[in-house]
Amino acid sequence: MTMSSAARKPLVVGNWKMNTDRASALALARDVAGGSASIGDRVVVGICPPFVYLDAVVRDLQAAGSKLHVGAQDVYFEPEGAFTGEVSVGMLEDLGVEFSLTGHSERRHVLGESDELVGKKTAAAVSAGHGVILCIGETLDERRAGRTDAVNERQLRAGLAGVGAEQLSILSIAYEPVWAIGTGNTATPDDAQSAHHAIRGVIADLFGAPEADRMRVLYGGSVKPDNARELFSCPDIDGGLIGGASLKSEPFLRIALAAAETR
Ligand code: PEP
Repeated sequence: MTMSSAARKPLVVGNWKMNTDRASALALARDVAGGSASIGDRVVVGICPPFVYLDAVVRDLQAAGSKLHVGAQDVYFEPEGAFTGEVSVGMLEDLGVEFSLTGHSERRHVLGESDELVGKKTAAAVSAGHGVILCIGETLDERRAGRTDAVNERQLRAGLAGVGAEQLSILSIAYEPVWAIGTGNTATPDDAQSAHHAIRGVIADLFGAPEADRMRVLYGGSVKPDNARELFSCPDIDGGLIGGASLKSEPFLRIALAAAETR
């Protein structure tokens, strides 16, 4: 699977959230596909459009022969049934959607998702061979209370509770401090590196040091073209999950280029 974390090649993924319409989603996907093809294969690039545009975007990119990876912003853990409004792993795979985000902070803190629910979604996806970017991160109050690493560890242990070592190659972690998302406040490279190092330590404890060494840990939270290079130069930062700056192809592609050039 091309999203796999082989040699921790940098991964840069755009999370479009609840933005775009059909026409602008298709145009943005095409622009990102064209630009990322010219950056080359030193970076893996993905986009997460809203659910309702996934089918159109995947078809359009397939018709253009693009290698851009398409993911969903969330997924449900049950395979089918009376779960009004939810979307299953099988439905996404049916469309050719390769991966999903789980545990995004807006799902946790705006929609009220628990650690346990995030763990069920993550396990259901990877056990079906569907890639996952598991998002974790502390709130401002938790950071001020010195609990960053403890919160990340709790979210990791719960998020990965149903994941087997053999499924790790299609799973990445995104560390996204909640106070940095959409606020313009980015973690300093030193703070981000320290959190990423601790995250890798938890993965090592759960699955062993070689697995932790192979795991991509992305940073997310107000990444922009002018801070991307410094963040991606940190030894434990393997790319980024990009919100606001992924809604236009030009800044997003500059961020992808920064990732390609720092490894
Ligand atoms: C995100 O929502 O995953 C994110 C990182 O958003 P932003 O880049 O806008 O902070």
